[in-house]
Amino acid sequence: MRHPSLMTLLAAALCTASLAPVLYAAQPAFDEQKLAQACDGLLAAPLAAGHLQTLAAAARDSAVEQPLRSRAMAAYGLALLLQGQTNGFASAARALAAAYPDAQPLLRVTADQAYAICDTCKGDAVQGALCPTCMGSGACKSCSGTGKRGTGVCTACKGNKLCPRCLGKKRVLTACPTCLGSTKVFKPAPEILHNYSNLLADVSGIVRENATFRERLAAANSETDTDRRIAAFQGLLQTFSHRADLGPAVDLMEKAVLNRDRRESERLAQEARVRERREQEALLALRDSPDIDAALATLDAYLAAHPQASATAELRALRDELAARRLRAARLRTALHIALGLGGLLLAALAVKALIPARRPRPSGPLPGLDKIDKRQFTDPLTLTAAESRTRVKTHTAQIPPDAG
Ligand SMILES: [Zn+2]
Ligand SMILES: [Zn+2]
Ligand SMILES: [Zn+2]
Repeated sequence: MRHPSLMTLLAAALCTASLAPVLYAAQPAFDEQKLAQACDGLLAAPLAAGHLQTLAAAARDSAVEQPLRSRAMAAYGLALLLQGQTNGFASAARALAAAYPDAQPLLRVTADQAYAICDTCKGDAVQGALCPTCMGSGACKSCSGTGKRGTGVCTACKGNKLCPRCLGKKRVLTACPTCLGSTKVFKPAPEILHNYSNLLADVSGIVRENATFRERLAAANSETDTDRRIAAFQGLLQTFSHRADLGPAVDLMEKAVLNRDRRESERLAQEARVRERREQEALLALRDSPDIDAALATLDAYLAAHPQASATAELRALRDELAARRLRAARLRTALHIALGLGGLLLAALAVKALIPARRPRPSGPLPGLDKIDKRQFTDPLTLTAAESRTRVKTHTAQIPPDAG
């Protein structure tokens, strides 16, 4: 199996880090379902080559949205670590940090955790073994432990009879065959696999959620009934409130709300117009009302309350007409009252006259007794002088003294 070069991965991450946020909200150009299938496959077989290639492709692809791509990068690095490629893991970690500085917590292990202390040498790097030179006898093999060779001293042990390799200790220290003297053996800690599995499961979960989210977004957007549309968007935003790509959904919902509010205000305005027209028709019908006072009071109250009503001029004209009619009626009434009053008086007078008995005319003739008076004893007062009148007053007599004057 051949994994994509880590340097390619790093370069791709560096080049596209600045573009990633712009592409984030776009529809997936990358086959997310294929990535989810690969992750599910890797959960079962952590190092399956085909699936690892899909994971690496997602890590490189700048069209993949951040939550998926950052996890793919981290998971791919861990896959390398699980294979003992510590340098590859380090490169992947650097690429992740460069592309998504906030995504560091995705990697919860270090390269050291892929290695453990060698069990064979317990970290000593060496182990004791039978001296291969003396085969564990400790004696010099050249002189068979005599110290002499021929007539001279044994040159191998310089006469001390001990095996020159182990110096008579019979055992020697050799590099640990297990760790080859490195003291550590490749033994990934369970945390690495745990971290890896969690990331793979995360990717699968995100892909499923993305699919659900896009489905519901499309369903909400295809809803034509305004109220149901708003409810669909509200439910969507509530369910997926943790997502960072809700901008388009929020915009669509705000548009729907504005649309609903506009329609509602139009409906209310239409209702108000109909109501006003109905009221005005009822008011105009007051023209035929027998109760002019009540009609005028109603009109005045309406005009005071609705100075801007559409039919104000018409209603004012009606009001003036009714007021004029009331004035004419009042004058007519007054004239009628006067006429009735006069008629009444006339009738009363006639009645009184009818009740008074007619006086019998007195028989004409001289005043009683007048015929018996002595006309000579009377003097016409008009013939008297002033002196005669004064004398008559003094004497209390009607007679005129004969010598008066
Ligand atoms: Zn060892
Ligand atoms: Zn030896
Ligand atoms: Zn010797």
